[in-house]
Amino acid sequence: MPGEGGAVLLIDDDPDALTILSNALEHHGYRTFLARNAEAGLELVHQEWEHIDCVVLDIVMPGDLDGYDVMKRIKESPITSNIPILVLSARTSTEDIATSYANGAFQHLCKPCDISHLSSIIRNIVRLRELERKSLTDARKYQAIIDNSPVLIVVVSPDMRILEMNRSFRATFTVPHIGDNLFESCFNDNEIATEEHPVMRALETGNVENGKLPVTIEGTLRHLDVRAAPIYSNEGKIESIIFIALDATEQIEMEKKLRRQVDRYNRVLREQDRTTDYLIQAQKELQLKGMELERLSLTDPLTGLSNRRQFDMTLEREARRAGRYEHPLTLLMIDIDHFKDVNDTHGHPIGDLILKELAVIFLNTLRETDTVARYGGEEFAVILPESDHETAMPIAERLRQSVEACDFETPVGKIGITISVGVASIKRQVINSQRLLDCADKCLYEAKKKGRNLVTCVDIN
Ligand code: GH3
Ligand code: MG
Ligand code: MG
Repeated sequence: MPGEGGAVLLIDDDPDALTILSNALEHHGYRTFLARNAEAGLELVHQEWEHIDCVVLDIVMPGDLDGYDVMKRIKESPITSNIPILVLSARTSTEDIATSYANGAFQHLCKPCDISHLSSIIRNIVRLRELERKSLTDARKYQAIIDNSPVLIVVVSPDMRILEMNRSFRATFTVPHIGDNLFESCFNDNEIATEEHPVMRALETGNVENGKLPVTIEGTLRHLDVRAAPIYSNEGKIESIIFIALDATEQIEMEKKLRRQVDRYNRVLREQDRTTDYLIQAQKELQLKGMELERLSLTDPLTGLSNRRQFDMTLEREARRAGRYEHPLTLLMIDIDHFKDVNDTHGHPIGDLILKELAVIFLNTLRETDTVARYGGEEFAVILPESDHETAMPIAERLRQSVEACDFETPVGKIGITISVGVASIKRQVINSQRLLDCADKCLYEAKKKGRNLVTCVDIN
């Protein structure tokens, strides 16, 4: 089918030759454009350059322009310079043929020409043209991708001359030009040594080199994520190096900011932990101090026994319990006999020692369930729960005897003392603790009156 094989522009001043050639080529499947002189030929080539695969050109033509002029003009114009020109001429001298090639002819053929031969040459040209168009389209596509990529791309020769660069690269660096030295125009303010630059490393090692590249661009430090790869020729030599970089400054700044925030947050957390620890510690100490204070407020500092305050509370509780359950209860009031004399003779500190020692005797003689307290001065009080008058008397007597029998060891030698004990017991009735105290006190007074070192009792029943 005419036209399917490609399109050919025929320029020849001989109308018969033009018709014969046109018919023959159309017969071989080509579409033809016809021009009877050089001017018409040039006009057509400029109108139809996109469709014309090849020009078949006569050399000798009447008028101002001959075939060589046409050839020159076609080659001069960038849009038509790629169109292959077949010279078909009656001129056959070596000189003529050389002139044709010098002017850019694809081939010089002599008239008359075998149509099959011409057709096969045109077929090859058309194939070449298709390949060329395809590779041009591909190249444009890749160029568009590269140019519109945010990645910085530059291709340099082994002597570091810029061969190609994309828009991002051009925009990032201060307007480099093709042919400029990469290091002089772009990396003159480099933060790393030139030989450490990934492009130089790729040239040196022949491998793909990755790395981070700090670069000062217009006075600002930027961080590039870089890859440099050598491009090899068919002979295996490094022909050029492609440098691809992504500006990671923002990302790095963001990471730094995030890290700082995390650090700050951790610091606050640690601070909070410390404060919490401190508060817990302070609370514990307060609790301990509180407990200690309470202990102090209820304890006699000299003997470590309960003081009068705690004793009164215990007596109150025990009296109520005994009354409620109709259980027996006994209270002993104990007073050291003539203790003033001890102090007067040996001094107050010796008196204190005896008070302390006496407390130990009481504690050792009594049961664990009994309560012994320093009631005041040289007076002690003992609660004997679950003890009535019968069981309490021997206990009181045992106390009195233990004290009488004891030689109190002091720095001034052994000292003996005696105690008087007043005993008040209930068996199974309700009694007010004060009443019990008064009764015991009265008995104690009796004991003193009767000569001291005695146990006197009252059974309140
Ligand atoms: P009585 O047999 O009548 O009880 O004679 P007393 O001397 O023991 O009685 P008095 O009430 O006259 O004196 C009590 C003495 O107890 C006087 C005081 O110095 C002494 N005393 C009271 N508390 C303490 C104390 O904590 N330490 C010392 N060393 N002596 C104390
Ligand atoms: Mg007294
Ligand atoms: Mg006394």
